[in-house]
Order: sequence, then structure tokens, then C-alpha cells
Amino acid sequence: MAANPAPTTNGNHNRRLQVVIVGGGLGGLSVGLLLREFADVTILESAAILSEIGAAVQIAPNSHRILKAHGCDLMVDGDGNLTSALKVDAKEMSGIEWAQCHRGDLQTEIYKHAVDPNGPGTPCKVICGARVTSADAENASVTLANGDVYHGDLLIGADGLRSVVRRAVVSEDAKSTPSGYSAYRGLLRAEKIRSIPEVEKMKLLEEQLAIVYGKDQRIITYATRGGSVLNFAAMIRQSISYVERSPLMATADSEMNEISEARWTAPGSTAALVKSFSSFPKAWQDLLSLSEEDELRVYQLRDQFAMDHWVKGRAIIIGDAAHACLPYQGQGASQAVEDAEALATYLRGVGPEGVHDALIKVFKVRYKRATYAQEISRKTGLYKHKGDEPEPPYKVLDPNEPIDKAGILAFFWDYHGAADWVKRKPEWILE
Ligand SMILES: Cc1cc2nc3c(=O)[nH]c(=O)nc-3n(C[C@H](O)[C@H](O)[C@H](O)COP(=O)(O)OP(=O)(O)OC[C@H]3O[C@@H](n4cnc5c(N)ncnc54)[C@H](O)[C@@H]3O)c2cc1C
Repeated sequence: MAANPAPTTNGNHNRRLQVVIVGGGLGGLSVGLLLREFADVTILESAAILSEIGAAVQIAPNSHRILKAHGCDLMVDGDGNLTSALKVDAKEMSGIEWAQCHRGDLQTEIYKHAVDPNGPGTPCKVICGARVTSADAENASVTLANGDVYHGDLLIGADGLRSVVRRAVVSEDAKSTPSGYSAYRGLLRAEKIRSIPEVEKMKLLEEQLAIVYGKDQRIITYATRGGSVLNFAAMIRQSISYVERSPLMATADSEMNEISEARWTAPGSTAALVKSFSSFPKAWQDLLSLSEEDELRVYQLRDQFAMDHWVKGRAIIIGDAAHACLPYQGQGASQAVEDAEALATYLRGVGPEGVHDALIKVFKVRYKRATYAQEISRKTGLYKHKGDEPEPPYKVLDPNEPIDKAGILAFFWDYHGAADWVKRKPEWILE
């Protein structure tokens, strides 16, 4: 699609939909892959090259199933190494693995199928170095930092937590907020782990998933790339408390390298990381000390309360731009992939004049499920250690309902696309 593609001729059902997607992350690429069969897709990505962070991501059965149906093989990376699969009976329960992918491998795999000249329809066009600075929801158009304007029949904002498209669809105020927690993330090489007997003894490379809790901290590890690296996320509470801030207030993260509203990620210090976990058993501290400083990063964990709409005119926001959730259920990327599938379901066969109605259908089918992912992640993660602090209002979850771990897994994993969900969704999620 050129900077200004062929003008929209409303009412012409025979031509392919022209779709502009802002963001080439896991969500944006997944939408491109799923729409390419019947739409011409242009993906605008601000980064100079597509490069996911050096960490792993769990792709749960609900999204693994969708990506697999569209050609992605998440069980083998580009070098032929096996991804790890969390057993936890995922395959037995849901017929497909819970894949532990390196983020870069996953992004490459989805990208490969999105742009494959031999795939269905037309290959997506991915333009890197394209930073969108403003969006017009009614006209489905965006303007880049260099002044170029792109417009289509519809605009999809898959531009993450700091979404520019969200500003045009919802409002300037609908920002995510600091949750009060930050996470160090990184990958530890297997040979280094094996070099320390006490660390090796923990058998983390063989474990499916290990979670160790402290008072206000937790470390989560799982292996990826066939056990050659161990992914870890080490969550720690910041100096602020949930009640000290208003939902729209940014709070400087004084303990975590001064992450601010303007900058939510920063290089991590291995010494500071180990110090933060000094109350943990020595073997865990030794494990963390293996992290390589040039790869270690710390992320402010952002929370987002459910918004009332994701659609305006011919634009929709998806993924983290619409319903970012805390990482405690490992569902953020999976929910973005579910959005992609719902868009493909409701946009197929639709002409430009039907775009708004189709987007509303996508919102309706996705809203409560994605909101549940936000709320259950908050409830099972954030408030676990938080004593008597007030909880924000719930929209779909009964806060007094006891946590039923098996029920949560079944809810997420037993998902077979939007059309099936409409028929089978639980009663409480009916409108
Ligand atoms: C510690 C941690 C662990 C997690 N673990 C899991 C897990 O195990 N499983 C899981 O499913 N999820 C997990 N998540 C959540 C998951 O990473 C996100 O939900 C997911 O990556 C969101 O994808 P997205 O495409 O919506 O947004 P992003 O990944 O944020 O992608 C947005 C893209 O848009 C681009 N962009 C932004 N602004 C602009 C602009 N103005 N113009 C052009 N391009 C722009 C960005 O460069 C980026 O490439 C985790 C999150 C955290 C913090």
C-alpha cells in the first residue's frame, strides 16, 4: 500500500478491504496474518526492525490453536530447536501444547507467514521505521512522524500500552497506570546454570514451570529453546502502594531505576536484582546473579482498567492497546491473538460500508472475555499479597468468588474461535 492507497470506494463489495494496522508486535502481526486472505494489509511499525525483547512468552492453547491453524509452528524455532511445552496436561486437556516460545522466534514465525508470497490472499506489507503520531478514527487514517499519511477502509490500533490510536478511539485519559510492581526479565544460559551445583540441583531446566513466592516478590522460570535457556521474570513491589495513586497518576519508580511515565523499561542491574531478592534462598540469588547485565531489563508492570469501548468509526484497538493485563495468567499475547481471530471472523465478506458494524461485533464478542483476563490476572496476581487494600471495581468478575484454578485454565484454554464462543460461552458472560 502506498502512502496514500487507492481511495476507498464505499459500496464496492468486490474489492479487497484495505487495512492499516499500527504496530508490528505479536498482536499486529497476528491480525495481519489472519486478515491477509481477504484483505490488503499494511502494518506500520515504529521500530527500525522487528525485534521482540530477549525473553520468552507462554502461548497458551487458546492462541496456539489459532496460530497453528494459520501455519505457524511454535514447537520448533528457526534453527530447528524444540520450543518447550508446559505439560500440565495442556495437550490432554485441550489437544494442543502450552508453548514456551522465545519472543523473537515467535515474532519471526508469525511474520514469516504474514508475508509469505505463497500464503493465502496477498502478503502483508510491513513497513518498519514508521512511527505513527496521530490517527483519525472516522477516516481510518494515520499520520507518520515524517508526514506521510496512510488510510484504508479500516484502522487497527495494535500499538501496545502507549497506543496512539487509542487516543483517537477512546480518549487521551485512557492510559494504563503503574500497578505498583515491576519485573526484571531475562534469559539465563543452560551452561551457566550447570556451572553452579546448587543452582543446577534445582532442576529448573527440566521443570515445566517454577514459581517461588516471597512476601511481595515472586520469581517465575521456565525453559525455552529446547532447554538451552531458562526464561525468568522476577517481580517486585515498588515503593508505592496502590491506594496512594489515582488511576491516572504516574508515579516515579524510585526503587527500580527511576522508571517514569515517560519510560517504563530500563536496563537492569544484576547487583540490584540480586539485592532485591536477598530474602530468597541462596540458590535463587545465585541463579539471578547469572543474568547478563547487557541483556537484563526491568519493566514497570502497567495495569489497565476495562474501557467501555474499543471502536470508533472505522477504527478498533486490540491487544495491549485495548485490554492490557498484568502477566500473572500469561494471557496478554494470547488475548491479542484471539482479537485477531475475531476480526477475521467478522470482517470476512464485509465491504467498506459494513466495517463499523463488523468492528462492533468484534468488540461485543471479545469485551467480556478480555476483561475477564484483565480482572483474573489482577485478582490472582496483584492482590495476592496486598492485604486489605481496596480493589478496583470489577466489571465481569465476582470479587468474592473463590479462585478456581482449574476453572480459569478451562475458561482460557477451551477456546475455539469467536463463532464457537458465541454459542458456548458461559452463562455469566452472556450479555
Ligand atoms: C513480564 C511479562 C510477562 C508476560 N508474559 C506473557 C506470557 O507468558 N504470555 C502472554 O500471552 N502474554 C504475556 N505478557 C503480555 C504480552 O507480552 C503482551 O500482552 C503482548 O506482547 C501484547 O502485544 P501487542 O501486539 O498488543 O503489543 P506490543 O507487543 O506492545 O506491540 C506493539 C507494537 O506497536 C509498536 N508501536 C507502538 N507505538 C507505535 C506507533 N506510534 N507507531 C508505530 N508503531 C508503534 C511497538 O513498537 C510494538 O512493536 C507478558 C507481559 C509482561 C510484562
